[in-house]
Amino acid sequence: MHSWMDYCLRELEGKQAHDLLFIEKMKNCSSQSSRERCVWVPGPVIVGAGPSGLATAAYLKEKGVPSLILERYNCIASLWQLKTYDRLHLHLPKQFCELPLMGFPCDFPTYPTKQQFIEYLESYAERFAIRPRFNESVRHAEFDASLGFWKVKSFNKEVATEFVCRWLIVATGENAEAVVPQIEGMGDFGGTVKHTSLYKSGEEFRGKTVLVVGCGNSGMEVCLDLCNHNATPSLVVRDTVHILPREMLGKSTFGLSMWLLKWLPIRFVDRFLLIVSWFMLGDTARFGLDRPKLGPLQLKNLSGKTPVLDVGTLAKIKSGHIKVRPGIKRLKRYTVEFVDRRTENFDAIILATGYKSNVPYWLKEGDMFSKKDGFPTKPFPNGWKGENGLYAVGFTKRGLLGTSMDAKRIAEDIQRCWKAKHSTTFSLSLNVPQSNS
Ligand SMILES: Cc1cc2nc3c(=O)[nH]c(=O)nc-3n(C[C@H](O)[C@H](O)[C@H](O)COP(=O)(O)OP(=O)(O)OC[C@H]3O[C@@H](n4cnc5c(N)ncnc54)[C@H](O)[C@@H]3O)c2cc1C
Repeated sequence: MHSWMDYCLRELEGKQAHDLLFIEKMKNCSSQSSRERCVWVPGPVIVGAGPSGLATAAYLKEKGVPSLILERYNCIASLWQLKTYDRLHLHLPKQFCELPLMGFPCDFPTYPTKQQFIEYLESYAERFAIRPRFNESVRHAEFDASLGFWKVKSFNKEVATEFVCRWLIVATGENAEAVVPQIEGMGDFGGTVKHTSLYKSGEEFRGKTVLVVGCGNSGMEVCLDLCNHNATPSLVVRDTVHILPREMLGKSTFGLSMWLLKWLPIRFVDRFLLIVSWFMLGDTARFGLDRPKLGPLQLKNLSGKTPVLDVGTLAKIKSGHIKVRPGIKRLKRYTVEFVDRRTENFDAIILATGYKSNVPYWLKEGDMFSKKDGFPTKPFPNGWKGENGLYAVGFTKRGLLGTSMDAKRIAEDIQRCWKAKHSTTFSLSLNVPQSNS
């Protein structure tokens, strides 16, 4: 199936190199308004220089395929560098978070700090000579069927560039944009309201009462950070949540689960995790943290909802340093009214309400990505490949492990085409971009 498709593509590209209409179109494209440049990219264009974009570029490079990464910020791994709090460590042990072809340094701890993770990514980019084009925000990408290529429109400030390429790899991440819920009266609230993507440390909240909305890993950890800075946090818990100890029986809970899954059905592993958690943490429902009906791993598989790996927050909830509150009904000047009608005053609100994909805003294509949530419509592990040379990396809801799997498949797939295509030379006199060649 692949080889037939690749053959067709080779034929098409070979023909296009001599096709006057094609050449004319490329020329038109390059003579668009003087503020809009047109750039032909011989290899794949990767949108996003996070771990997924870097891993794919590295794999491609290893296979002799040059690529070009477009990144909207002026650094790699912008999520980690610009949008995470100071005390963040990797949630999972390092062996489950390394990118392909280069492991973490041996002296890194089991759970590297955010700074160590960033250092690792910087040296990864260095090692594979990956040099993204920074400050390029992709706002539109569409396959031009008459041309047989993708047109990727990117803006550096207001200067537009159109990149024309045969392969487009979407690596913009599951966490591209902050989700900010609409809460009645939010505009009237007199204190600080910020999303966790803007939260750095509890220092600025010292002595203040803070309401943290959302009880995922970030919400729980921000509460702990606030406690450690002598703020008084309360945690809004609207939904059920699985809280597991980060380690059990001397092993990481994640690692142990992965190992058990090799031998046992998922529902047995879930049962095991819940029993051990009950012994270690007690009945979390007693503290307002009801568990979902479905086990933690089954729930993750079905809905993508990640269990919380406790790093000490639960002890603070038990000791009353962090209070658990139900959903918010409305906000007033410094008052929060909860759905149980109780009202309380707060100085600040932190929204730990998660992130969403931004793919539907800029990628115009058929049905590889859902228009609703911006994730591939095909479930894992089949969401990495679409039509016409379109790929997705890092949308597996399986963190960096999923990224490595996608990156490998994509690089192998493109390499097959690349090898065949390489003999065909395009001699169009368009701008040559800086690429990771
Ligand atoms: C607080 C936190 C902790 C986490 N801890 C772990 C962990 O321990 N282990 C784990 O496996 N996973 C963890 N994750 C999940 C984590 O998001 C991923 O593992 C990893 O960052 C995903 O990499 P990515 O490259 O797919 O996405 P991102 O890191 O989000 O990178 C995407 C890049 O694309 C860029 N971009 C987006 N839109 C555009 C556009 N239109 N044009 C140009 N560039 C664009 C962004 O600026 C960004 O640099 C954590 C996530 C968070 C939020």
